[in-house]
Amino acid sequence: RQSAAASTGSTVRSAEYAARAARVIPGGVNSPVRAYGSVGGTPRFLVAGSGPYVTDVDGNEYVDLVASWGPALLGHAHPEVVAAVQEAAARGLGFGASVPEEAELAEEIMRRVPLVERVRLVSTGTEATMTAIRLARGATGRPLIIKFAGHYHGHSDGLLAEAGSGLATLALPGSAGVTAETAAQTLVLPYNDLAALETAFAEHGDRIAGIIAEAAAANMGVLPPEPGFTRGMIELAHRSGALVILDEVLTGFRAGPAGYWGLQAAELPDGIAPDLVTFGKVVGGGLPLAALGGRKDLMEQLAPLGPVYQAGTLSGNPLAVTAGLTTLRLADDAAYARLGHAADVLALTVSESLSHAGVAHRLARAGTLFSVVFGDFATAPRTYEDMKRQEVFRHRAFFHAMLDGGVNLPPSAFEAWFVTAAHDDAALERIAAVLPRAAAAAAR
Ligand code: PLP
Repeated sequence: RQSAAASTGSTVRSAEYAARAARVIPGGVNSPVRAYGSVGGTPRFLVAGSGPYVTDVDGNEYVDLVASWGPALLGHAHPEVVAAVQEAAARGLGFGASVPEEAELAEEIMRRVPLVERVRLVSTGTEATMTAIRLARGATGRPLIIKFAGHYHGHSDGLLAEAGSGLATLALPGSAGVTAETAAQTLVLPYNDLAALETAFAEHGDRIAGIIAEAAAANMGVLPPEPGFTRGMIELAHRSGALVILDEVLTGFRAGPAGYWGLQAAELPDGIAPDLVTFGKVVGGGLPLAALGGRKDLMEQLAPLGPVYQAGTLSGNPLAVTAGLTTLRLADDAAYARLGHAADVLALTVSESLSHAGVAHRLARAGTLFSVVFGDFATAPRTYEDMKRQEVFRHRAFFHAMLDGGVNLPPSAFEAWFVTAAHDDAALERIAAVLPRAAAAAAR
């Protein structure tokens, strides 16, 4: 691969592609945050990735901390994943019929997350959460869903209220085009607030189908549940006959080998568990694949066994299944140890650099996930309201100094930083070398 020394520093060709894309694609992007709206400047057009590095169309190489927004757990273009996908591709790109590997992937998910007794494969995290919600409503016969402010579950209509992620970046409360009737089916509550949940169940209990929650919030920056919150949420829901959908699209197989739930489960008594879990990102190894899973009796209410409809032309696509299965099989304890080590080292180095430059900040962690929250917080942030008070302008300066120095951060203050198992000492040292300059930029 190309060395940093060969980077040109030019953004001419990225700018040309951005202008060309803007003439044919709204905003020039197929997902809003890629447009650099909150940081400004020229979005880099990427042409290659290898391990912890990506290369743009002008020939600049960056240490990557986006990791395709999560999927690249092992780093980019892991040779064994690429070879497995090439082998599958040579046999056909998809048949619209079942393929042997689908059950193998379902088994691997169930092995890691034992509460999952059945799995349905879909193509995006949005589909997984949308289907889980339909299933919760179908199974309970109730209309309402509770979500938490700042939690993002994809872009289906009912879940776009105060949804963090790109909406937080663009400072939008929700989306135009969602009818009032649809919005009224979602109750948005503050995160980490069991009293608010209790009130909602007291007022609407017999109409609440379920709660959907990120296992650890990571789309408003990283914000893990406070001790007792997950347990209290599950107990309150179950007491009212409502279901719990734990959204592990981002955290699944990344925060730890069994997702963020895996880090929490050991501390909870038997029987305290979500009913449905959604997965995405890592589970597809970089190709479009996501999944929902959960209790057998619930999952078997999906068509063709039950009355809750769900389908997909590309569901269980053999290339995507192969990428996901190969990734999960390679994601062994040693890989998670490397990931954890990289996250520890990076979090510490970033925090030290910022402190040294006098930049007030908080570091939030959830397993191997972390993010930096700029600002002077007397107490640790607990809610979306807290996270929205962060000093976004500091992220902008920090982001650009890092990018100029060859480090690709998420172009939004409200996102997690994604390390990979391929972030070795050399990659971490390259980041460390840029940090003092970026911290100084954030201090201004
Ligand atoms: N749920 C969570 C927690 C997510 O982080 C995301 C995407 O970032 C989604 C759902 C939606 O997944 P997708 O973008 O694949 O539709």
